[in-house]
Amino acid sequence: MSSYLLRGVRPLGGAVTDVLLADGSIAAIGSDAAAASAAPGDTAVTVLDLPGQVLLPGLVDLHTHLREPGREDAETVRSGSAAAALGGFTAVHAMANTDPVADTAGVVEQVFRLGQEAGYVDVHPVGAVTVGLGGQQLAELGAMADSAARVRVFSDDGKCVDDALLMRRALEYVKAFDGVIAQHAQEPRLTAGAQMNEGAVSAVLGLRGWPAAAEEAIIARDILLADHVGSRLHVCHVSTAGSVDLIRRAKERGIDVTAEATPHHLLLTDELARSYDPVYKVNPPLRTERDVMALREGVADGTVDIVATDHAPHTSEDKDCEWDVAAFGMLGLPTALSVVVMTLVEPGLLDWVGVADRLSSAPAAIGRVPDQGRPLAVGEPANLTVLDPDAQWTVDPWQFPGPARNSPYREMRLPGRVTTTFLRGTPTVLGGALQW
Ligand SMILES: [Zn+2]
Repeated sequence: MSSYLLRGVRPLGGAVTDVLLADGSIAAIGSDAAAASAAPGDTAVTVLDLPGQVLLPGLVDLHTHLREPGREDAETVRSGSAAAALGGFTAVHAMANTDPVADTAGVVEQVFRLGQEAGYVDVHPVGAVTVGLGGQQLAELGAMADSAARVRVFSDDGKCVDDALLMRRALEYVKAFDGVIAQHAQEPRLTAGAQMNEGAVSAVLGLRGWPAAAEEAIIARDILLADHVGSRLHVCHVSTAGSVDLIRRAKERGIDVTAEATPHHLLLTDELARSYDPVYKVNPPLRTERDVMALREGVADGTVDIVATDHAPHTSEDKDCEWDVAAFGMLGLPTALSVVVMTLVEPGLLDWVGVADRLSSAPAAIGRVPDQGRPLAVGEPANLTVLDPDAQWTVDPWQFPGPARNSPYREMRLPGRVTTTFLRGTPTVLGGALQW
């Protein structure tokens, strides 16, 4: 295996140094790294000059839709993995709402193996909570946990586990193997036919609104259930100020709840729906400026533990149509880190240590992924990404891998560019380009 000397990088945004990668691990940091690479040895060392660039642990996404099996016309495990590597990720969790649904050991093992074959990132399948996402009967959670895919995160994402008794049973069941239920918090009766956030803009546009209370009611209930049975709850894509408040109070009471915010909910608001451009149609919907600011504050103070993409590729047939029939969802993997830089780092809400926590070590911990999100230290696995913080780029979804183009950031100028990604010492991205 080749060795690489990363010259002039700033680990977690700190002082400039050199980092040597060998045999899949971090072999040396500092003057030792340069010396070791200069010493004659049997393996050639490739020198990468990355002056002043920020070295982070490889990013870990707890919430990705890879669409395979079933909707390979929108995304495949391979194309989604490539998009992830370009975005600086070294691991993603692939949601279960595929066709067939990932509700058995067979399907999660298939997705896991497709991820290994692609080789860009570690693909960790999320198991469905209920059979066929039907909300009627618990899926084979134990069999998925025991499978080769070692599933630890379970979610009916796209749908809410709205039956309180089923949710309670799921929370109880996953305790046996240290799993977590990731809830898509959406009270179905309050959101039937909803198209966007319920508020001033929906009233003007005449689109059916989606009240904040529909999200908050489920989060409040699930916090009480998780506390009652002593299990781990993770709340997907928190989108309202009230949700942040509920989670903050639950944490103050010592309840084991974690939460995520998406990049798009940290930047975009429901004002964009005035364009009637369905690229802004997403579930949960874009909310108000006040919600955006509360989410940023929540991520900054750790109430919201992680940023997760909810990368949701769609074909143009499903997305480029009238607002009310268009599919919900946005691309997120290639742009996630740049949007975090724009919304949290540049305003001074989060430093690079915080970025490494919210996008790498904390999601790895929630997903129980042991060899990701590790410290930047000698002997640790070389799952790494390098970002040029001074670079700017204009988003062009036609340059993304995969067939989907539904990026809400198209033609936007974003700060910070991933130049380099390593998975266990093998470069997946160099000079901003995929390696195979
Ligand atoms: Zn969801």
